[in-house]
Amino acid sequence: MSMARYFDKNPNTFGMAEPLGTSAYYRPGGIFGSGGIKPGNIFHEALHNALGLGDDDLAEKLGVHGGGSADINPALASHHCI
Ligand SMILES: [Zn+2]
Repeated sequence: MSMARYFDKNPNTFGMAEPLGTSAYYRPGGIFGSGGIKPGNIFHEALHNALGLGDDDLAEKLGVHGGGSADINPALASHHCI
């Protein structure tokens, strides 16, 4: 499945990264649009690249017990990371 098709089928996904790799993909839309290329999402995906953790484990590492993808950027913001 192409990334374009994946983003079409998953409207709440704004980015995706290769765990322990270098690739990251963002929903198109531009900095001022509704896409995923935003500083918080770039940092979020970079953490997947660097740590190799999925969303649930990354949320846990950020102190959000039982959290998921939607909890990561607010946790990063609360720690003044984004
Ligand atoms: Zn994520």
